Amino acid sequence: MPERVPAILALDFDGVLCDGMREYFTAAWRAWRRLRPSIALDPPSGLFERFARVRPVVESGWEMPLVIMALLAGASESELLERWRPAPLLAELGLAREAVAAAVDQVRDEWIASDEADWLDHHQFYPGIVEKIRPLVGGAIRPVVVTTKEGRFARRILGRHGLELGDGNVYGKETQRPKPTILRELAGAGPAPGALWFVEDRLEALAAVKRVPELDGVALFLAAWGYNTVPDREAARRDDRVTLLTLAQFVGDFSGWSPSDGAADKASIAPRR
Ligand SMILES: [Mg+2]
Repeated sequence: MPERVPAILALDFDGVLCDGMREYFTAAWRAWRRLRPSIALDPPSGLFERFARVRPVVESGWEMPLVIMALLAGASESELLERWRPAPLLAELGLAREAVAAAVDQVRDEWIASDEADWLDHHQFYPGIVEKIRPLVGGAIRPVVVTTKEGRFARRILGRHGLELGDGNVYGKETQRPKPTILRELAGAGPAPGALWFVEDRLEALAAVKRVPELDGVALFLAAWGYNTVPDREAARRDDRVTLLTLAQFVGDFSGWSPSDGAADKASIAPRR
């Protein structure tokens, strides 16, 4: 059973705290042009919307130019959502994922260097997020960001909104550790069992945590407002370990984070604390 409030609140960044869709698309398009200089300067109309609808398949930034590659090659959205396989695309390009990731990060670094305000303007926090997290900083509940993005990018966006979590509380791609490994470290920092909470918008990321027995005590939440699909949210609703969380619940009191559907059933079979 989760504690009533977390001691450590581990938060994914993209699709939980921040909606950076316009930035992802622009960075991905520029990175794709760098990998394929022969293509047009501007993306075809409608590509942004298609990219946005397929974004739930993306685990890490290096996949984003490949989503554009697949869409331009004629892949359907449903095909990508049902069976996203970036490996054959990498093979076709003759590149390792690290090379594509480097192109994306390079595009971002150059964008920040040339016009940081414009880069920041391509991101927005979901409504109420800043107001929810800012009062927690430095208090009894430790907010921690666990993201597949480079930590330096997340820190800049957080900092712009006055969310200075401290370097030790932002775990990015540079740590080169998967999210379950980082959560094991956080669990080892000594929170009471059930007092490490993890909010993520990718169901697969939560499934990876479920596969680690040492993380059985971690409370798992799927952010319904993030980059996931209706089937993902339905699966979360049926899952007895994962709680489907709305943005209204997230920005409200922690006492309201329990599932609204079936909460009574679960409470009646769960041991009382
Ligand atoms: Mg995410």
